Amino acid sequence: MTIFSSPAFEDHEGLHAFHHGPSGLNCLIAIHSTALGPAGGGVRMWPYADDQAAIDDALRLSRAMSHKNAMAGIELGGGKTVIIGDSRTAKSPAMFEALGRAVESLGGRYWAAEDVGISPADLAYARTQTRFVAGLEGHPAASGDPSPVTAEGVKRGIELCVRRALGRSLSEVTVAIQGVGHVGAILADKLAAAGARLVICDVGADAAAAVAARTGATVVSPDAIFDADADVFAPCALGGAISAATLPRLKARIVAGGANNQLVDAAAGQVLFDSGVTYAPDFVINGGGIINVAGEIRALNRGESFDPAWVEGKVAAMIGTLAEVLERSASERRPADQIAVQMAKERIAAARG
Ligand code: NAD
Repeated sequence: MTIFSSPAFEDHEGLHAFHHGPSGLNCLIAIHSTALGPAGGGVRMWPYADDQAAIDDALRLSRAMSHKNAMAGIELGGGKTVIIGDSRTAKSPAMFEALGRAVESLGGRYWAAEDVGISPADLAYARTQTRFVAGLEGHPAASGDPSPVTAEGVKRGIELCVRRALGRSLSEVTVAIQGVGHVGAILADKLAAAGARLVICDVGADAAAAVAARTGATVVSPDAIFDADADVFAPCALGGAISAATLPRLKARIVAGGANNQLVDAAAGQVLFDSGVTYAPDFVINGGGIINVAGEIRALNRGESFDPAWVEGKVAAMIGTLAEVLERSASERRPADQIAVQMAKERIAAARG
């Protein structure tokens, strides 16, 4: 088993393992950095093949949260919890109460939120044991669904890319949206309102049809979206949309969307750059959601109500950061995703002092 020599370890502050026999909780809480503030990151429940797979995932995801939070300009470091188990069969209130005690034992160095396999009801049990849980309803500081804020940031990011790369406005371009779930559907509404033409797809035919009925979008199959005659390709489904198989098919000169982990690997970022495609790094352009969560944590810490104006200010600043990434990518002749990771590391290092 490797921890310190894992490729994902890279300067983590800590990796905490918790076990609670009666509920069967086995979980890891990875804290990459608290330099910018307490580590913030979701709780993921997954039936990992073995302990090593769970360790590697916790370390990889907490480092990714550090980079995302740093680029979002919020006072949160990066962390992540992984619970080893099947979320369909192994959950219980006692398990999440035990998780809450685990989070509490870290004394506020880590704030938990929702991620894959976890519902607000699960986190409500954790919240009975600790105040360091974000994303619950029913209190004045609650931030609600982050998807509209994520979609707003993505829309503004696309607008920036279209202006920079094509010298056009949204009303002069076609955007292909892969996946019209929470983020993709709201993004479609916003882009249609700005006059963009849309091509959309979803593995759920009903979701695509509903969005098309409101926006006038053309619906294509999930496979055909890669061949769409579009200026912008906006991945808003799962990760890995940009790969050696899909890249040669893209006609779009811009890739900018809400999905996490859009590039299948770093080589895909290099190929995008070499082919002159403007790429808005996913963890920069989709930071609206975590900014929304940070707004809740800020309000909870201050004993205040949630402040949408604070969130708006941070989203505007995030678009400024995206502009800086694209500027540096052009002037330093390096892929935008590499520039963004470097900028995130610089921000964390500066805060570490
Ligand atoms: P969602 O599950 O609501 O939507 C995803 C949609 O993609 C679904 O409608 C699904 O049917 C569709 N889909 C899945 N595979 C597809 C495929 N191969 N082709 C076409 N459609 C496909 O999720 P969401 O909350 O909208 O998040 C979308 C992406 O954005 C995810 O990668 C998520 O991690 C990321 N993200 C979301 C937020 C947020 O605020 N919700 C914030 C940051 C990042």
